[in-house]
Amino acid sequence: MKELPFRLPDLEPGWVWLVGAGPGDPGLLSLLALHALQQADVVVYDALVDPRILSLARAEAQHEYAGKRGGKPSPSQPDISARLVRHAKAGLRVLRLKGGDPFVFGRGGEEALALVAAGIPFRIVPGITSGIGGLAYAGIPTTHRDTNHAVTFITGHGVTGDVPDGLDWEHLAKGSPVLVIYMAIKHLSGISSRLLAAGRSADEPLAVISRASTEEQRVIETTLGRAAADVAAAGLEPPALVVLGPVVRLRAGLDWLGALAGRALNPDPLGTKIQRDAV
Ligand code: SAH
Repeated sequence: MKELPFRLPDLEPGWVWLVGAGPGDPGLLSLLALHALQQADVVVYDALVDPRILSLARAEAQHEYAGKRGGKPSPSQPDISARLVRHAKAGLRVLRLKGGDPFVFGRGGEEALALVAAGIPFRIVPGITSGIGGLAYAGIPTTHRDTNHAVTFITGHGVTGDVPDGLDWEHLAKGSPVLVIYMAIKHLSGISSRLLAAGRSADEPLAVISRASTEEQRVIETTLGRAAADVAAAGLEPPALVVLGPVVRLRAGLDWLGALAGRALNPDPLGTKIQRDAV
């Protein structure tokens, strides 16, 4: 890459940068994320961080895994925070790399507060959250003037591992035209039933996007009523996102990755142009 015409801040010894790595595609990293990868002494990363991104770290950097994988017990959140503090106190340049955005269902706030408590200087580098960037890679906008003026991001997995009960599903169903649900696959049938019970239509379009922006991206377009059965039949791999609402219909026009593979795109996927022209 050409030399930048401005200076980025450096990751200094004794500092921790909490950085979002985006949904997968290394091209979606921010300049600050790339800069940190090139400077860090230690990279503490999560399961969702794409290996292609880790390969951008400088050769001498130590890589430390801090997530769940292969059935091994995962380090607890206080253990991870304590590790960040220890490394920083040892004078290392610490890069804490998380999938998507560190502050969106990523416990970045908890880790940063532990740094504050220990008096460790830190910087937050936001990343592209999968609930926006992953949808874009499926050709689904989170908002569109003709369909929705609001969108709600939800986690489908509560602290106890069940469908989160603290959520007011009834009001979410009634109040938000588009719902983007993280960690929804395991409880998809429970979530769908709650939304149907609250009045959402079984015919409403729903998409599931698995491994968004990676080589293994898969998208299923279905309906709220059929989603759980279709996802089970397709054997979709996590991580995956669920998006419910009229924006899913726009995929017929905006599936740019599909177009690269030969899909014909419909420039009027909502039929609005025809209606407007008729007026
Ligand atoms: N901080 C992350 C979210 C962590 S929670 C972010 O901002 O994206 C983990 C959930 O994120 C997964 O269960 C899945 O719902 C979603 N997710 C993360 N990366 C994804 C990807 N590449 N494709 C689909 N879903 C993804």
